[in-house]
Amino acid sequence: MRLLKKTTFAIVDDTKKNKKSALRVQAGIEKPSSVNPVLKSGLGKFKKPKLNIELLVKNIFKGDRSSLSRGITIVESSLPTDKILAKQIIHECLPYSGNSIRIGITGVPGVGKSTFIETFGNFLIEKGKKVAVLAIDPSSKRTKGSILGDKTRMESLSNNPNAFIRPSASAGTLGGIARKTRETITLCEASGFDIILVETVGVGQSETAVAQIVDFFLLLMLAGSGDELQGIKRGIMEMADMILINKADGDNMTKADLARREFENALLLFPALENNWVPIVKTASALYSKGIEDVWDTISKYLKLTTENGHFQLKRSKQSGEILQESIESALMDNFYNDPDLKEKIKSIKKEIDKGNLSPYDAADELLDVYLKRKNN
Ligand code: GDP
Repeated sequence: MRLLKKTTFAIVDDTKKNKKSALRVQAGIEKPSSVNPVLKSGLGKFKKPKLNIELLVKNIFKGDRSSLSRGITIVESSLPTDKILAKQIIHECLPYSGNSIRIGITGVPGVGKSTFIETFGNFLIEKGKKVAVLAIDPSSKRTKGSILGDKTRMESLSNNPNAFIRPSASAGTLGGIARKTRETITLCEASGFDIILVETVGVGQSETAVAQIVDFFLLLMLAGSGDELQGIKRGIMEMADMILINKADGDNMTKADLARREFENALLLFPALENNWVPIVKTASALYSKGIEDVWDTISKYLKLTTENGHFQLKRSKQSGEILQESIESALMDNFYNDPDLKEKIKSIKKEIDKGNLSPYDAADELLDVYLKRKNN
């Protein structure tokens, strides 16, 4: 230990005396700053490139999938700056939209939606179509991830250049998600997708929203689970243009056929549709690609009938009318309830109602009076 100390001292000492000595201690270099000097000078400042909407839209028109994805992300965003961009994108895409067939697909978890979409999607692509798969999934708000429209569930389809799979917009109200899905459809159509499959879980919340978006509604069901309606509400069955009993393979084929007849009978009890379409019940096996052609034939027949009798356009026009009305209503409600003065007034008026000094009807008139006067000033 002593020896070591001595040697160290000798070396340092030597540098002072003889600069040419090989034992000289190097002065070393100064510790560099942890900040990149280029950045410090401001020269290399990272600037997020300004989004060129014109170019983005042009690439969407060309069918470039990453531009389409970027466009959809902007449409889904709730940032005020993105909202302005989203309006521009949609405005540019609208004239080139509307030319697809929009098909809603629903059914309880496990019925085979993703298996069906994969088989059906590949079938359509073989027919020369370009297929986009979108999802409406209000439950994903809770799980922070969507169980629908998931690429890992539709592996072969997602690898196909003629397919585009987009998981559900994962935040917001059902109305908000439906609106974003509709806008996403506009972008997909402008990008050349001619079949849009909108997937949703058939548990009763989102079907009405899907019905406002699609031309044709397909309900997937299972046979032989005892309760033939499997928790599917009557309202959902009423919306279906076709019921497909999936997993009609192996031992399940007879049961599937039985279920088909039962559903046919159940549908007879529903009132006739305005567009003269009689909902069809068929069996299929998404896993073994059986009955898939029947689905396409049925959709083609539906399209033929409704385009000839004018109901195809009528339905789309009705749908946009409903969306217009809903948008106005929700904007008005937001405006009314977010007015800071009115918020206070509502609280005080509520107290008066509770004391029995004012009827809720008169209170509503009074509040609306205040609101309208403020708007007119
Ligand atoms: P989803 O939750 O509705 O999307 O259902 P999936 O497509 O994930 O299917 C659930 C399970 O059912 C998977 O194990 C599939 O392999 C299986 N499955 C789907 N379609 C069929 C079918 O036509 N026949 C059989 N036997 N199984 C199927």
